[in-house]
Amino acid sequence: MYELKICHLYPDLMRSSGDRGSLIALYKRCQWRGIEVRVSNISINDPLNYNDYDIFFIGGGQAFEQSIIKEDLNEGKKHEIIEAIEAHKIFFAVCGGFQLLGKYYRNSSDQETECIGALDIWTHECDTRLVGNLVFEVDFLSEQDKSLRGFENHSGKIYLGKGVKPLGQIVTGHGNNGQDGHEGARYKNTFCTNSHGSLLPTNPAFTDHLIMLSLLNKYPDFQGLTPLNNELENRARTQGDG
Ligand code: GLN
Repeated sequence: MYELKICHLYPDLMRSSGDRGSLIALYKRCQWRGIEVRVSNISINDPLNYNDYDIFFIGGGQAFEQSIIKEDLNEGKKHEIIEAIEAHKIFFAVCGGFQLLGKYYRNSSDQETECIGALDIWTHECDTRLVGNLVFEVDFLSEQDKSLRGFENHSGKIYLGKGVKPLGQIVTGHGNNGQDGHEGARYKNTFCTNSHGSLLPTNPAFTDHLIMLSLLNKYPDFQGLTPLNNELENRARTQGDG
């Protein structure tokens, strides 16, 4: 019996735009395959030992929620998160959670706030919000699965440093900053995106990729995921296509 333990970071605060939808997709696609999966909610003042988990998930949040959790992060969780990422744990971060993994966040008054510093990325807040449907292509899925669709809503423009690859290349939408054609970020087994809660439920191949990586991390002889019927998910993903 295979088992995966998911750490949901700050579920009570970092949850803008239905981000929990991606977490639900992760654990339902495990459950449907008979994989034992447990989700632990870890928030302000909760202890965190990165070795207790296989997958980490943090959703998005506005500047207010981001400021609330920064103090808690600096009191200890920050180091556990960096250790988890460096240990190749699967880490999935959405929008505001993505931004917090970076070096700093500069607001529109040019005030810089230090972030976790786990990834060589940084965020500059802009006056306009980057909102709307998103289509982007990744290079780690098959030809038929590489085009992903999501929804973005952020005022922060994110820039990637040397050691970080984009999650994908924008086809439609803004992505990280509306300028360089990048969407999200990838570093070791950390996957970051601006796409909110509809992403993993409607892009099953990406969800399965994350599950597969988590199982291979824990069970090196793992042979492969049982295929699932993705008809509903695929219809949901392409319903908006012209
Ligand atoms: N506050 C951040 C921004 O607006 C993140 C927003 C979010 O997570 N949806 O860029």
